[in-house]
Amino acid sequence: MQSVPEYFGSKVFDDRTMKARLSSEVYDSLRETIERGAKLDLSVANAVAAAMCDWAVENGATHFTHWFQPLTGITAEKHDSFISPSANGRVLMEFSGKELIKGEPDASSFPSGGLRATFEARGYTAWDPTSYAFIKEKTLCIPTAFCSYNGDALDKKTPLLRSMEVLNTQALRILKLFGKTDVKRVTTSVGSEQEYFLIDREMYDKRHDLIYTGRTLFGAKPPKGQELDDHYFGSIKPRVAAFMNDLNEELWKLGILAKTEHNEVAPAQHELAPIYTSTNIATDQNQITMEIMRKVADRHGLVCLLHEKPFAGVNGSGKHNNWSISTDTGVNLLSPGETPFENVQFLLFLVAVIQAVDEHQGLLRLSVATAGNDHRLGANEAPPAVISVFLGDELTAILNAIETDTPYEGVVKEKIKLGVDTLPLFARDTTDRNRTSPFAFTGNKFEFRMVGSSNSIACANMMLNTAVADTLRQMADKLEAADDFDSVLHALIRETITRHKRIIFNGNGYDDEWIREATEERGLLNLRTTPEAQAKLLDHQNRDMLVGLGVFSDNELHSRYEIQMNTYCKIVHIEAMTMVDMARKEILPAVEAYCTDLASSIATKKAADPSLACACETKQVRLLSSLIDAIDAGIEALEKVILKSDTMDDCTERGHFIADEVIPKMAELRAPCDEAETRTAASYWPFPTYGDLLFGVR
Ligand code: ADP
Ligand code: MG
Repeated sequence: MQSVPEYFGSKVFDDRTMKARLSSEVYDSLRETIERGAKLDLSVANAVAAAMCDWAVENGATHFTHWFQPLTGITAEKHDSFISPSANGRVLMEFSGKELIKGEPDASSFPSGGLRATFEARGYTAWDPTSYAFIKEKTLCIPTAFCSYNGDALDKKTPLLRSMEVLNTQALRILKLFGKTDVKRVTTSVGSEQEYFLIDREMYDKRHDLIYTGRTLFGAKPPKGQELDDHYFGSIKPRVAAFMNDLNEELWKLGILAKTEHNEVAPAQHELAPIYTSTNIATDQNQITMEIMRKVADRHGLVCLLHEKPFAGVNGSGKHNNWSISTDTGVNLLSPGETPFENVQFLLFLVAVIQAVDEHQGLLRLSVATAGNDHRLGANEAPPAVISVFLGDELTAILNAIETDTPYEGVVKEKIKLGVDTLPLFARDTTDRNRTSPFAFTGNKFEFRMVGSSNSIACANMMLNTAVADTLRQMADKLEAADDFDSVLHALIRETITRHKRIIFNGNGYDDEWIREATEERGLLNLRTTPEAQAKLLDHQNRDMLVGLGVFSDNELHSRYEIQMNTYCKIVHIEAMTMVDMARKEILPAVEAYCTDLASSIATKKAADPSLACACETKQVRLLSSLIDAIDAGIEALEKVILKSDTMDDCTERGHFIADEVIPKMAELRAPCDEAETRTAASYWPFPTYGDLLFGVR
């Protein structure tokens, strides 16, 4: 058996493989494209394609695919084989530069939000050389961007790459002012901690809600939930450990640095964290990780639930997006430096992020807004729907001292003179000190904790990158025009703190009092539902920025708004229909059967001895009968609002109607069903309960 270092990355056409298999001219030219975005000429592409094909075939691949991330939220692929006929009825395995660079999937069914007229429905995929090709089963997967023939982005990768580019441009302007002319490229890095649930496959197969929607739509609270916190970091059960070992092996072969794994707070909940890497690669790798998690679970008779809220009453799952900015010279710009000069630069980048988050709260919120995540945010287990920034008390006090030009009350009371003094030492590792914050500074990175577990991290990062780029642009404009750089710089840092400190909050984000203070006193946004949040995409301030920096065109923004709203409506529609179906065909008949059996038992007993009161059974029959009526009424009320929503063509109107009318009716139907579950004999209940699902894997 091979050791981990031997098989790590064996299924990726990574730098090591490229170096070994490409001529040095081809390799250098490709690296130039990867690092600086230089145009690739066809002869280089042909050489790369031939080497990739040889490598893939040697590793058992027979097909290739342009792997892309359409706006459905999952990844898409269409496989073509390498086979090409040759003389004497033999075949050759071939792959050309043209096939590598550009593909034309018949992708007319992917959502385009009106961007693609049907007569030019095809769209094309374009190779993204900055993310390595990899082999999945027997297919060579080539990461690609997906666009319409007019050049409109139809995917998540294109705007993400554009956002990385604008951040690079603006950050370089700032670094130049600090004399860092050796820096040629600035990139953002991400490490995304992925939470998930594992449940038993046989139980899953018995629940139509899980099958159709990925979450449970019914289920009474089990006697034991997560109240003892005995699952968090608890010892890992053998079946789960076997799954994790297998998963790690698959991910390592794909060059994914899966690093830590542990049990999470809820029973059956777990987490995997990779080591951080460039945002584009991290995004691709997270998509692959989610896919592999599902596949590996299946091999172990398990199902991996990536939904944000598979179970009511226990914690949902998120993805912590750890984000930082660094230079190609190896400097993390969010890390406080050793010298006073470096510290001013750090402070500038820090306040730039604070300003970006404050000015574009809505954009960050909507970047994580989905039907699934709406159940999680603000539910006292995940950050609230209000965005704020956690800096920790010490860093906040430092900013406060700078703003007010007063001594910093640290270990030693001292006044900080920017550019002259070093920053007082503050606890750099504040990790997990405040789990309630949506956006926490943890020493040398920001942790955006609102991302949903099934979301692509592309959306959050493209908005974050762009918002920060825009702030850096404004700052660079001012600084470049300055006569006295130092004084303008200091004034800029101070002003930015004054104008944007309302977004800084170090307290408990789960507290109702905070929500009141945030909205009423600080004027922060509280966008509770997806339709409310998505509306912010078209706000002039956000739109001007995204269009102005060229990350989106106006058309692309409108199309995305429409797709997000339609997706939201479709998801809730499916859930509501599934509820009606399960309540009518499974729950009602079960409760009815138990109730009827109780009634006939009363009749039988009374026939045997008319003096028997049968008080218990009679009480239960009454209660169950009234629950049956309530369930029936709940089904009818839900059906009525579903039908009404079906008549609405406008996605904004429909989205709001669904949030305001359909979702409450779903909750109203669920209540008597869950109550009935607690009153019905277990042998009558038609599907596995919460207790079965949450404690069923050993
Ligand atoms: P935890 O938050 O669970 O205590 P860490 O904060 O050490 O753990 O790391 C969580 C994630 O953050 C990991 O994926 C890690 O690779 C990533 N990470 C660490 N440093 C950085 C950084 N400078 N930029 C981006 N991500 C980072
Ligand atoms: Mg963390």
